[in-house]
Amino acid sequence: MKLDQALLQILACPECKVRVELEGDRLICVRCGRQYRIEGGIPIMLLDEAEPPPEGWQPKDA
Ligand SMILES: [Zn+2]
Repeated sequence: MKLDQALLQILACPECKVRVELEGDRLICVRCGRQYRIEGGIPIMLLDEAEPPPEGWQPKDA
């Protein structure tokens, strides 16, 4: 799944207001690690829809 790079740059975690990184088919918040899925090329940036961080995930500098 290709996500538009310009779109990726304006996306932010709704909780932390920091950038997210593309990991496979998920967007992961660099601060809290919440995972946001992408459906049909549309990132679902909703806290209610987010999944917990991957196991062993470590925060990165935002
Ligand atoms: Zn976050």
